[in-house]
Amino acid sequence: MRPFRYERATSPDAAVATVAANPGAVFLAGGTNLVDLMRLGVARPDRLVDVRRLATDTVEPLADGGLRIGAAVTNSRLAADLTIRSRYPVLAQALLSGASPQLRNLATTGGNLLQRTRCPYFQNVTTPCNKREPGSGCPAREGDHRTLAVLGHSEACVATHPGDMPVALAALDATVRTEGPAGPRALPVTSLHRLPGDEPHRDTVLDRGELITAVDLPVLPLTARSRYRKVRDRASYAFALVSVAAVLDVAGGTIRDVRLALGGVAHVPWRARRAEEQLLGAVATEENLRRAAEAELAAARPLRDNGFKVPLARDLIVRTLLDLLEPLQRHDPTEARP
Ligand SMILES: Cc1cc2nc3c(=O)[nH]c(=O)nc-3n(C[C@H](O)[C@H](O)[C@H](O)COP(=O)(O)OP(=O)(O)OC[C@H]3O[C@@H](n4cnc5c(N)ncnc54)[C@H](O)[C@@H]3O)c2cc1C
Ligand code: SF4
Repeated sequence: MRPFRYERATSPDAAVATVAANPGAVFLAGGTNLVDLMRLGVARPDRLVDVRRLATDTVEPLADGGLRIGAAVTNSRLAADLTIRSRYPVLAQALLSGASPQLRNLATTGGNLLQRTRCPYFQNVTTPCNKREPGSGCPAREGDHRTLAVLGHSEACVATHPGDMPVALAALDATVRTEGPAGPRALPVTSLHRLPGDEPHRDTVLDRGELITAVDLPVLPLTARSRYRKVRDRASYAFALVSVAAVLDVAGGTIRDVRLALGGVAHVPWRARRAEEQLLGAVATEENLRRAAEAELAAARPLRDNGFKVPLARDLIVRTLLDLLEPLQRHDPTEARP
């Protein structure tokens, strides 16, 4: 590892100013991704600005009934929060499906959103990679891409976003709050990450030195009926091959509202808007769920070795929505008819 300077930021403004003005400076939170990348030589900062004590590590109610999650809240703390567990179960489930208890004790909300791809070539500095070294090429296209993207990828990059929590936040229509060189801003979490296009080295729309301070969850009565399902190579301690976050509201057997997001399939947490459009107002039958999932995945462009993700994502969407319908059926068989 190269030598670097460590400092604990004293205020958000000072942290933003330092990172914005120094190309070699980066924010440090739990360090569970950044320090790994430094050890591998993928990240080569000369200055770490520790921001863990700047953002709050609390989950607080907002005046409109929503919740504000401080960027320093750890994944463990957030998953254990009673309000999150009862009102936003999809978020607690996504968090608990990620990494290990030890890692979740360190990993923060801000850092989790900005973790980098697990593409094997990105992590190996002896190989070319457009994300690591723009213009050097993408060996994953013809090489090892079994775990990589089937939706929204480009000639330049077929990487996936590896996170679980961001997929749940996408389904929950969360808002990310930042402080940056141009001042504060709030952006939908679904606009935070970018598709790779010709600039795969840019994971997000954040400016250099822009600090995530919090994530806001809106008040949505339907979020109490929500679910996260993740398929991976091992039962634990593995990234998603495909995951689904779903929020569902059904009345009289008809879908009144639905939010769906997919993980493990794209460079971004993938909000499944095509499926949502097809499901809104539809009768909640398994056939309709399957048709909507197929409509979403019609845009998939699998590579040689990751075509299995397409039927897997389809079946996982259907299974996750059926999970949410089953309790309704038990209580009132006329309420939902899968
Ligand atoms: C073995 C292993 C298995 C894992 N499995 C999973 C898994 O299954 N699912 C999953 O979702 N994750 C998994 N992870 C990833 C883990 O969740 C992330 O490493 C963690 O969430 C990153 O958070 P952190 O606070 O440690 O971030 P750091 O490593 O400190 O930072 C990550 C990035 O975010 C930037 N950053 C941090 N905070 C801020 C902020 N407030 N504003 C702006 N930029 C910021 C840093 O500069 C850096 O670029 C795994 C990690 C490991 C090592
Ligand atoms: S998929 Fe993206 S991250 Fe992986 S080698 Fe290609 S350019 Fe690099």
